[in-house]
Amino acid sequence: MSAVLEQAEEAKKEAFEINKLSKRLHRQVGQAIADFNMIEDGDKVMVCVSGGKDSYALLDILLNLQKRAPISFELVAVNLDQKQPGFPDHVLPEYLKGLGVPFHIENQDTYSIVKRLIPEGKTMCSLCSRLRRGILYRVAGELGATKVALGHHRDDMIQTLFMNMFFGSRMKGMPPKLVSDDGKNIVIRPLAYVAETDLERWAAHREFPIIPCTLCGSQDNLQRVQTKQMLRDWEQRFPGRVDNMFNAMANVVPSHLMDRNLYPFTTLQTTGVPDSAGDRAFDEDDCAAPATIAIRPQR
Ligand code: SF4
Repeated sequence: MSAVLEQAEEAKKEAFEINKLSKRLHRQVGQAIADFNMIEDGDKVMVCVSGGKDSYALLDILLNLQKRAPISFELVAVNLDQKQPGFPDHVLPEYLKGLGVPFHIENQDTYSIVKRLIPEGKTMCSLCSRLRRGILYRVAGELGATKVALGHHRDDMIQTLFMNMFFGSRMKGMPPKLVSDDGKNIVIRPLAYVAETDLERWAAHREFPIIPCTLCGSQDNLQRVQTKQMLRDWEQRFPGRVDNMFNAMANVVPSHLMDRNLYPFTTLQTTGVPDSAGDRAFDEDDCAAPATIAIRPQR
């Protein structure tokens, strides 16, 4: 085959793959929105855009879905400029203007506050995110937003579950929808079903003007980095494992865990009535049995 033909073939293959990726991303986001009733008719959704690949992709996909949705909702993009040294503050306004989406840039120098309060060498992320959260909730109220959309994805949610187990001794993940701690906002994560690797490919394809997240000089949270690496290693060695773990978060069986607040172990009574679908205490390893639960295909 000539070089020109080879190139044409390659371009055709690439276009096919991107089309597949686009369909998957839009389907997964639409599915998460529907499964958790994230966006309703008349909603004004404030999309938090940081300049990272995930929030760019979130806004991009929501704008596309808005055009074809059977319901009517508004989108407003919001960026919090935290005054980190070297933050290119022209990038997001230019990009958002180009999209034609309503937007608001909130200027708040949380960088100086965090620098002043956190000793050198200590991680600043926890205070920084707390300040950011409070500001964004306030802005949502001022803009009249009914939902606040964040760009966390499937892998963030699994990592959080593992980090809470490893370092916090609790089984707690990152929900796709929640009421904020100030009680005033509904926070949604429409990328809940989306794999991070897909977002990386989408960001490269769409050429988002990514703003690096290292401007504050904070070290990456080592525990999160290690957990992410562990999950990526597992996925490479055992393809499908991450999807299964993710699906497990939606298939919880309280009677087979140990939380006395979730299941009344202490007052358990016999029923005297056989139940073929009931619990069996003496079976071989339950986990080895073929799964009988419905697992939503992620791809
Ligand atoms: S990486 Fe920097 S900007 Fe991001 S949460 Fe941590 S301290 Fe804040």
